[in-house]
Amino acid sequence: MRRPLVMANWKMHGSRASVDQLIDGLVALESASRQNVVVCPSYVHIPRVIAGCADSGIGVGAQDCSHMHAGAYTGEVAADMLVDLGCQWVLLGHSERRQYHAESDDLVAAKLAAAQEAGLQPVLCIGETREQREQGEAFTVVARQLRGALADQASLAGLVIAYEPVWAIGTGLTATPEEAQEMHRYIRGQLAEFAGLDPEQTSLLYGGSVKAANAAALFAQPDIDGALVGGASLDSGEFAQIIAAAA
Ligand code: PGA
Repeated sequence: MRRPLVMANWKMHGSRASVDQLIDGLVALESASRQNVVVCPSYVHIPRVIAGCADSGIGVGAQDCSHMHAGAYTGEVAADMLVDLGCQWVLLGHSERRQYHAESDDLVAAKLAAAQEAGLQPVLCIGETREQREQGEAFTVVARQLRGALADQASLAGLVIAYEPVWAIGTGLTATPEEAQEMHRYIRGQLAEFAGLDPEQTSLLYGGSVKAANAAALFAQPDIDGALVGGASLDSGEFAQIIAAAA
């Protein structure tokens, strides 16, 4: 189902005190808005966020998961463990994972399969770098990332895709609404290739320096269903404005 989803990616930020403050801001939102919100804290804060957001309608997700089910994999967190905690969502293939942890399309595909098997709802993150865009490769790169992650999956039910141009993440540079729309339209077209995935029912989120000032123009685009928000999700007031713009 396409829906106006607004996801917070808190990345490696937060203390127990600051997380409690953010939770207070989220649960104070009006009930209808809360249904559209998913928060992805650091692993260590997930239980706190699940407890604080209980019965609020706010979803909770992890920022990554292992492609393995269990075993001697020091430092890894399995999708089943996240489900056991009460997580419903997981971000996969975020550009910071691809860049700093050398995650390949194959690894992202394996993580996606593990998440689906565990019953987590995956959000596949894709997007080109500045160099790739300048060289006219943005569409090729995005198509390759999509194919790399989605081909050969047993199930893609409930998949959400976040288009996040790497050059727009944390830089203050946002794709123009037209640039973002053009890529979202392209991605929706590509999804038709994958069995079991209905492009017109798949939520596509934009990410990359989304803030209160640009959210409404992005959400007004026909193929942009919502947003994946990093920096601005750490400010309760700003994030509330983005959520309001999505409704
Ligand atoms: P940003 O991050 O909103 O700070 O650009 C987005 C993301 O990385 O998901």
